Amino acid sequence: MAGPVFTDFKWNDRPLCAEDEIPSALEDCHDAEALTAYVLKLLMASKHNYVHIVLEEHKNIVRLIDIKKITRHGGTRDADWNFHIAARATAFAYYLFFDKTEIEACQQCNSQHSKGPCVECVSSTSDIMSGACTNCYYSGNGRNCSIRKRLEREKAEEERLALPKFNGFSQEDLKEATDEQLVKWLRMIDAAISQRVGESMLSKKRRRL
Ligand SMILES: [Zn+2]
Ligand SMILES: [Zn+2]
Repeated sequence: MAGPVFTDFKWNDRPLCAEDEIPSALEDCHDAEALTAYVLKLLMASKHNYVHIVLEEHKNIVRLIDIKKITRHGGTRDADWNFHIAARATAFAYYLFFDKTEIEACQQCNSQHSKGPCVECVSSTSDIMSGACTNCYYSGNGRNCSIRKRLEREKAEEERLALPKFNGFSQEDLKEATDEQLVKWLRMIDAAISQRVGESMLSKKRRRL
């Protein structure tokens, strides 16, 4: 089965440009649409599998590529970017095609030291890049993205609340338990221990005050 062709991808219901008008070099990209066409062509030629899955499944461009301006030593230049590794190309593919679910930018994108590479902080649900934004994911720093971390904390809290309170069990219970039950109990014990440790650390702190 042949993959999608360039003009299958639409920005405001039309292709970015005709196939023979795609800039062949970065220096020839004079506006956001031309740069996006150039990036899209690079993504289509990418050897990274996941990029192709995104391109197969998405045809509507939701935002144009907008490279962050970096100010260093008094001068301003575009942030560096390339698609040398899969995560970088994937981050750009997400940037082009994914709606974002967070309104506020992550701490990393908001920082004055942010190197982008894109202007917008784009993040989705925790099943996409584990909830990290495209800039952090691009930079290999997805794990530390403040949005991903917040989603992880919320999920852990949800799981903790979903567990029944641990009330102990007998040897009989243990003998009859299925593997699944044992795993569940282990998590309950774990949650109970962390709660007790947390409480005792808190009371120690209070005693010290
Ligand atoms: Zn961000
Ligand atoms: Zn981030």
